Amino acid sequence: MVRYVYDFTEGGRDQAGLLGGKGSNLAEMTRLGLPVPPGFTLTTDACRVFLATGAEPDGMAREVSEHLAAVESAAGRRLGQPDDPLLLSVRSGARFSMPGMMETILDIGLNDDSVLGLAKVSGNERFAWDSYRRLVQMFGSTVMGVDGALFEQALALLKDLRGAPDDVHLDAADLAQLVETYKNLIHLETGEYFPQSPAEQLRRAILAVFRSWNAERARLYRRREHIPDDLGTAVNVQRMVFGNLGPDSGSGVAFTRDPATGRPGLYGDYLQNAQGEDVVSGIRNTVSLTDLERLDPRSYAQLREHMETLERHYRDLCDIEFTIERGTLWMLQTRVGKRTAEAAFAIAAELTDEGLVTADEALARVSGEELARLMFPRFDSTATGEPLAHGIAASPGAAVGAAVFDSAEAVRRAAAGDKVVLVRQETTPDDLPGMVAAQAVLTSRGGKTSHAAVVARGMGKVCVCGAEELAVDTGARRLTTRDGTVVEEGTVLSVDGSAGAVYLGTVPLADSAVIRYLEDGAVDEASAPVVDAVARALDRADTVSRLEVRANADTPEDAARARRFGARGIGLCRTEHMFLGERRKLVEEMILAVSDAERDRALQALLPLQRQDFAGILEAMDGLPVTIRLLDPPLHEFLPDRTELATRIAATEARGDRPDPHDAELLDAVNRMHEENPMLGLRGVRLGLVVPGLVAMQVRAVAEAVVARTRAGGAPRAEIMVPLVGDVTELRLVREDVARVLAEVSEESGAAVGCPVGTMIELPRAALTAGRIAEEAEFFSFGTNDLTQTTWGFSRDDVEAAFFSAYLDKGVFPASPFETIDRDGVGRLVRIAVEEGRATRPDLKIGVCGEHGGDPESVHFFHTAGLDYVSCSPFRVPVARLEAGRAALEGTDVSDTR
Ligand code: PEP
Ligand code: MG
Repeated sequence: MVRYVYDFTEGGRDQAGLLGGKGSNLAEMTRLGLPVPPGFTLTTDACRVFLATGAEPDGMAREVSEHLAAVESAAGRRLGQPDDPLLLSVRSGARFSMPGMMETILDIGLNDDSVLGLAKVSGNERFAWDSYRRLVQMFGSTVMGVDGALFEQALALLKDLRGAPDDVHLDAADLAQLVETYKNLIHLETGEYFPQSPAEQLRRAILAVFRSWNAERARLYRRREHIPDDLGTAVNVQRMVFGNLGPDSGSGVAFTRDPATGRPGLYGDYLQNAQGEDVVSGIRNTVSLTDLERLDPRSYAQLREHMETLERHYRDLCDIEFTIERGTLWMLQTRVGKRTAEAAFAIAAELTDEGLVTADEALARVSGEELARLMFPRFDSTATGEPLAHGIAASPGAAVGAAVFDSAEAVRRAAAGDKVVLVRQETTPDDLPGMVAAQAVLTSRGGKTSHAAVVARGMGKVCVCGAEELAVDTGARRLTTRDGTVVEEGTVLSVDGSAGAVYLGTVPLADSAVIRYLEDGAVDEASAPVVDAVARALDRADTVSRLEVRANADTPEDAARARRFGARGIGLCRTEHMFLGERRKLVEEMILAVSDAERDRALQALLPLQRQDFAGILEAMDGLPVTIRLLDPPLHEFLPDRTELATRIAATEARGDRPDPHDAELLDAVNRMHEENPMLGLRGVRLGLVVPGLVAMQVRAVAEAVVARTRAGGAPRAEIMVPLVGDVTELRLVREDVARVLAEVSEESGAAVGCPVGTMIELPRAALTAGRIAEEAEFFSFGTNDLTQTTWGFSRDDVEAAFFSAYLDKGVFPASPFETIDRDGVGRLVRIAVEEGRATRPDLKIGVCGEHGGDPESVHFFHTAGLDYVSCSPFRVPVARLEAGRAALEGTDVSDTR
């Protein structure tokens, strides 16, 4: 029989799929003997059934009653018992953390009677009424659908009336009055009364949390974080403990290490006389854990001990939420904590040194995405000047953008192509769209664990929070600094999330420490821990990986950089990039040539230039393979723009002058060669087959460069690659040309020049006939850009701007197929081609050189598909190396520890 409810004593951390992250970790802490308030978890199965059918699953209500009875009997009192009520919290908790995106309802069990009982037993009337008004407010908005702003307005009105600066200054009678106002508001808005029955409160709260899985902001968050929509959330029902019972109570959030830098040592925020929600909301400013040591040494010592237990048990950075109720410490949550990219690398290295994890586990715990973040530029510290304000360095990196003061404006301007910085006093989950759209988030309140900080870190977005020197007036859309400087909406700000500083205007950027290290081994003292950790992770990745990493580069400089970044060769040298600039004239002559002699002359002029290009690249990659691709794009790309040319001619004629005959000739050629859809026209191998002498010139340049490099004492390893092949005959014809030229150069030079000849696989027909094509190809390289274009029928240059955002919104695909390989479609063609290509030629070398070669998720796919190498832009080489290593660990028991 399916069970829908598990007591905390029954589960464990490996049941996150069923019990959610929060529920499984509460169970784990319970098993470890830590002080967790008793409770139970409703499973994600129950949520899925409820969301699918709209009805509670059979038997769930009975199970809830049974588990509630157990909690009641352990506590020695009943839910909502009038003279001494047991109260419950009802919290969401999905498989993957979605901070603040779903609902929580606290103080379930309070009603007009039990509030009096609570006042009596707690000896604190104000506390009892404050808890009740929180319940009515949360229940009213979350469960009964009343606009939350109405409650806020009523609260603000009462504070104004009483001249109270914050809610702490409202007394019991004020709060009792507020409860009445809230209840009337609910009745007015819904026609229903706030339910007095504790059981009904509990039941409806549970269902509301299930429903909140599909709230707009939760959906948006999932899309961004690639969390599947069909997982559902678990619900945790737990005995309430109170941090707001007076100065000997409080709530806090803590990390076993600093989540921003990874430095060891307890780290966190504490708020005296407050509920947990107050800490993360950032509404009041918190104190550090060192202050807790002073305020309550006994609880602090226990907390330290529990956190040590947790870190040793989880073998990773843990974050926790805790509450102290009148001097008694309670653990309310733990999980393996989110961290910045810098911290991820530093912690992985430290835990290895501490003997808690192996080098492979350390590698599995960092990601290419995190490494990419560490390679972003930082602000140039010599050019920053005086900051406008300081705040907390909540999420590192550097960002520049125009200040905007609400989420909608951020979204609007970002959609128009502007870079913006979202400035708020504090953020709430409703600000999520603006945070997604912004380059950086800046708040004037809240600590490192505030909503803004946690969400920004999760997204890898730059964030400075708690910049108290700034008076943020979102209504007037401006902020004012201590010295009276006013910054209006639209003013450019530079936000340094690593140093916690904000500057007026645009601060220039400098290379990151990791880039400097990769470039020339330079390490400054401040960056040494993270640079060292990155170096170790890359080393390990190179040791365990099977996939080789090459680079896409077409200049000696790029080739040299790629080599410094760890590339083991060039997987794609796009020769068309060598036909631009001054050489364009020569290409023009080649295209316009009417006789063979004219064409030969143009090709002869190009030959030494090409030879020089290749020699430079072969030198930079000496000893490593360099895959040189024959000319690919349609020739008219090298001619002037048709409209421009026609206008120029028309204007000359209008003046009564004779147009330049060269212009007329050019226009003729442009018109002759015009294609409606050049991506599918005369390009790639087709060009080589119809423009006489083109292939021969390029191959001769390669071969002569090889001879020159060999004579200079080098070890050149050129490979010749044919683009856009769709049929084996195309390749065979080109290959004959290549073989002839190689033989000629060998004979002329007296040095045997052998270059492997291979093909790109970038058309579905090539993939589907790969078995035949492999007869003529010594290697395959998947051109997944074109393969994606031609498989989906998406024009590469048009679709991303035209409708991809709509497709992403509608969930047609979770990520652009031009960024992350479409495993089901394009990926299937890749697998077919690998299998059939190797069936023909078992030693066929296979790589990929489309953009996907540097995308972490795609690298994992190429590993499993059995490729030999990925090739990507030089800056992505370190990311690809790391992911190639991680891919090799996939499926082993170290790969899913985080
Ligand atoms: C490709 O199509 O994936 C590829 C690498 O070639 P290009 O992007 O130059 O068309
Ligand atoms: Mg291509």
